[in-house]
Amino acid sequence: MKKKMMEDLDVRGKKVLCRVDFNVPIQDGKITDDNRIIQALPTIRYLLEQNARLILFSHLGRVKKEADKKELTLKPVAEKLAEHLKKDVTFVPKTRGEELENKINAMKDGEVLMVENTRFEDLDGKKESGNDPELGKYWAGLGDMFVNDAFGTAHRSHASNVGIAKNIETAAGYLMERELRYIGGAVDNPTHPFIAILGGAKVSDKIGVIENLLKKADKILIGGGMAYTFMKSIGYAIGTSIVEDDKLDLAKSLLDKAEGKIVLPVDLVVTKEFKADADSRVTTYENIEDDEMGLDVGPKTIDLFEKELKGAKTVVWNGPLGVFEFERFAKGTESICEILANLDEATTIVGGGDSAAAAIQMGFREEFTHISTGGGASLQYLQGNVLPGLEAIDDKEV
Ligand code: AMP
Repeated sequence: MKKKMMEDLDVRGKKVLCRVDFNVPIQDGKITDDNRIIQALPTIRYLLEQNARLILFSHLGRVKKEADKKELTLKPVAEKLAEHLKKDVTFVPKTRGEELENKINAMKDGEVLMVENTRFEDLDGKKESGNDPELGKYWAGLGDMFVNDAFGTAHRSHASNVGIAKNIETAAGYLMERELRYIGGAVDNPTHPFIAILGGAKVSDKIGVIENLLKKADKILIGGGMAYTFMKSIGYAIGTSIVEDDKLDLAKSLLDKAEGKIVLPVDLVVTKEFKADADSRVTTYENIEDDEMGLDVGPKTIDLFEKELKGAKTVVWNGPLGVFEFERFAKGTESICEILANLDEATTIVGGGDSAAAAIQMGFREEFTHISTGGGASLQYLQGNVLPGLEAIDDKEV
């Protein structure tokens, strides 16, 4: 069933509640990466152009004690949004009560207001994260309709996404629609050849993704820390490289099940110490010393992956191929960005989290068809799991 989209609603002059994911990194009161704000701008601009009275909700971090409130206020986020919109954003430092209600009632068409961090409600018995039914109902009562644009939170069932949606007409915003179109499209109906690239620290985080993609993809290229568990499972000595010994049998059984679909690295960059300026060398899996660890894929692996990716029509990438945080071990991840940027005929999708951060940090923001804003949510989606935040959006009327 297709979901109702924001453009299906008549929002003019209406109080439109909108859940965005503004869970951005903040250091000393300054936002260090505003990608999530930028990605929500098309929805916000559309609603304001339609003269809605826009009321924004978001969470920020985890609020466990009263003292967390000082660091986790959304005030700097409201200021950053105002800069992007070149327009006043009324920030209300409350999640409920008279001040919030009065400010909402005083709004004019085309104005925007931001409610304080929804997780401030968690101090009072996990009301937001526990999807307290009264809270969802209260927030829903503040508006006429609801637009959910927070894909990054869609794998959670919270009061500010699922709770509000249960009580009021709900549609998806542009960002949610994009995530649905690209990640959903790759999982449900990919154009072949469909190649997945998986990396990151652990196999255990991505078992479900590998199992689901084995059914859908033509090839799965494996790099990053998780490759060592696979390599050890087929008998290679991997020195002190990261490994999950309790997942060796599982890794072996995935390889057997894959019948050649899984492509493993053929060489690697090793070092003796886990640090940014450690000495390193390129070697093969047959020649890793006992005191060496692999922190990146090697040049032959990149060539192999490039060959496998030639002619691909759909590519999904999740997880860096090495410890990209250290420049010396970032080459594999950067090369994958370059290869994908040069695939002219492919839809290229980067799952959220570290691979999205790496792609943006390395200057490839514009080079992919879609960079997901949700790490956990995109992993759940790639596994074929139902996302409660998405599920709670109304179905399109036919
Ligand atoms: P994930 O969150 O599972 O996508 O993992 C991302 C993390 O995996 C990054 O912080 C990388 O530094 C780390 N990583 C990638 N390759 C390796 C490796 N060979 N050894 C240790 N950590 C790695």
